[in-house]
Amino acid sequence: MTGSPVWHPFWQHGLGLPIPKVARGEGAALILEDGSRVIDAISSWWVTTHGHNNPRIMAAIRAQTERLDQVIFAGWTHQPAEDVARCLVAMLPEALTRVFFSDSGSTCVEVALKMALGFWANRGEARHRILVMEHSYHGDTIGTMSVGERGVYNAAYAPLLFDVGTIPFPIGDGANTIEALEAACRENPAALIVEPLVLGAGGMLFYPPAVLAAMAEVCRRHGVLFIADEVMTGFGRTGTLLACNQAGVVPDILCLAKGLTGGSMPLAVTVAQEPIFAAHWSTDRAKLFYHSSSYTANPIACAAAVENLAIWREEPVQARIDALGQNQQTLLDRLAALPGAQYPRRCGTIIAVDFATPDGGYLSALAPHLMAFARDNGVLLRPLGNTVYVLPPYCISAADLARVGDVVEEGLATLPRSGSQNQ
Ligand SMILES: *Cc1c(COP(=O)(O)O)cnc(C)c1O
Repeated sequence: MTGSPVWHPFWQHGLGLPIPKVARGEGAALILEDGSRVIDAISSWWVTTHGHNNPRIMAAIRAQTERLDQVIFAGWTHQPAEDVARCLVAMLPEALTRVFFSDSGSTCVEVALKMALGFWANRGEARHRILVMEHSYHGDTIGTMSVGERGVYNAAYAPLLFDVGTIPFPIGDGANTIEALEAACRENPAALIVEPLVLGAGGMLFYPPAVLAAMAEVCRRHGVLFIADEVMTGFGRTGTLLACNQAGVVPDILCLAKGLTGGSMPLAVTVAQEPIFAAHWSTDRAKLFYHSSSYTANPIACAAAVENLAIWREEPVQARIDALGQNQQTLLDRLAALPGAQYPRRCGTIIAVDFATPDGGYLSALAPHLMAFARDNGVLLRPLGNTVYVLPPYCISAADLARVGDVVEEGLATLPRSGSQNQ
């Protein structure tokens, strides 16, 4: 073995590409060991909201390290967890009353699926089928891969993935989706899980709030639990605190993770309506909710989340998001004018454009070329196949966004015509 023993996620080491070493974070930028500045145009894979090293969140973490590092959470509690739960319940729609902690987006989705099945099992109804939307992504564990799109990234594990019912991605007014959902609901599935308004990893695919509202209504009418995976869309990305807010939808179970600590610490929650909790409430131990991980509600991560929620309450976060949306629209208009640009789209702070290339799909030459070109020119980008998207921290300046535009434009102009996939 030569070089670092680190095995990186979603990374082909065999290509021998450079792996920059990040020394510091500063707002919308990362500072490398050699002192160079990199604009974080994807919020470090969709987690950073108020910017890297937010002073309030960092101070809250430091203060918590003086008090309590970690404690068992089964039957024990601590102030930061109580505060996160209370503050969240106060900010979320009224019917969402019970907060279950975990430590990643994948885990909070696993928890949501287990809650849904536990709900039906404890009520003595054998419902276990899960409905999902085509092109969805819900995580990389076996359960979350099962409810996500199948493809090259999970083909090796396909024999272990469980069977689900898939409804099509909405076309136009989404009648195709709603019709399929109606039919699928007649077979008494346990739950539908969706990414509200934006399918992130599936290619930054957007659908209208009316379709989200219609899906929730069909589920309600059939008594099928509605699970909203807002791991990416939550905390302002789509222009509102939750994407569900734009559709007036209150899910039975809500998954939050990435932006919960402002993107500073791993922490996730699965928030349930009272009947889900009530189905597990009993004097019979066998009906308890069987899920825990060692670091459930880690106090330091919770302290970061408490401060993030305080920032949401006390600072003009919504105004920042609105302003970023306008700046993103300017960048989108520019990208939409580039050769080969298709389907320019914006949802709140997220913009995306597809670029027509001869070889579409995840292994398209565009993504590796643009990612490498951007890296060499001080921008962190990670296109999804031939979809270029910009999903920045809310504090990014108009000048930095314009620089991102320059780099995308130059990167596309230097795209090799019949490109090898290895650069
Ligand atoms: C990122 C993501 C997840 C998985 O979150 P991790 O923290 O990476 O496990 C789940 N659902 C959606 C919609 C996501 O974007």
